[in-house]
Amino acid sequence: ATPTALLVGTGRGAQLGILIKGPEVLESTRTVDTVVLDKTGTVTTGRMALVEVIPAPGEDPDEALRLAAAVEAASEHPIARAVAAAVENPPPVRDFANLEGLGAQGTVDNRRVVVGRPQLLDAVLPEEAEGKTAVTVGWDGKARATLVLADEVRPTSAAAVKALRDKGLRPVLLTGDNETVARAVAAAVGIDEVIAGVLPADKVDVVKRLQDSGRVVAMVGDGVNDAAALARADLGLAMGTGTDVAIEASDLTLVRGDLMAAVDAIALSRRTLRVIK
Ligand code: ADP
Ligand code: MG
Repeated sequence: ATPTALLVGTGRGAQLGILIKGPEVLESTRTVDTVVLDKTGTVTTGRMALVEVIPAPGEDPDEALRLAAAVEAASEHPIARAVAAAVENPPPVRDFANLEGLGAQGTVDNRRVVVGRPQLLDAVLPEEAEGKTAVTVGWDGKARATLVLADEVRPTSAAAVKALRDKGLRPVLLTGDNETVARAVAAAVGIDEVIAGVLPADKVDVVKRLQDSGRVVAMVGDGVNDAAALARADLGLAMGTGTDVAIEASDLTLVRGDLMAAVDAIALSRRTLRVIK
């Protein structure tokens, strides 16, 4: 990993808010034909808010939320931040463990609490939560409540997707979130190629598969779970608002966390390359 990003591109990169690791990065942008976009934190702001708590029959929603918040207070995930923010003084958590791309767990009030994908607790989302970003909280192996969250599409994402298309690039939405949520976000920004329900470890395989089919892939991501895919991509672009791990794994950093900068970065690199050649 490169500790400090190097600025190139006649200072234009700096003006556009793009940090480039080295001049060799520019070469790969020339042939890029596909841009894989992570959903949460990249196409969307990643700033989620808790909108509803749906208890399982006979369960206390406040207690379920209190314990979930205690665990999530120890996690950096956008979902975790939203859940933690919904409770004022969550109790302390012990033996916290992050379940990459799945959820988190920890011991609270002597109960082993799990928060994350419904599958972690063999739970099925209630009908009201279908098609929304939702996680299940439970303990003692039993699902206790569904936490429903909402996330906002970044204001410039749709324009950025259109600009990518205008440059002849194919946008693909990639996410660990469910198919329905992914489709809704894709439709909102004008993407028709969607790969949803992908575990963090499999994101890199999606990039590999696209490359094997002859595509030259740029990947834009923000999370720890995107790092391997960002490193594998022909061109990795990290949101400046994202995690250090993602930034280190990438060739370019979009300082403002604005997807429009990804378009600028590709255009700038192509232009700079023409000047060098
Ligand atoms: P994306 O690919 O859209 O950036 P992630 O891979 O980070 O999403 O997460 C995928 C799914 O895993 C989330 O939609 C959520 O269901 C679950 N998840 C991951 N981390 C957590 C957490 N700390 N708390 C609750 N759920 C989580
Ligand atoms: Mg993400």
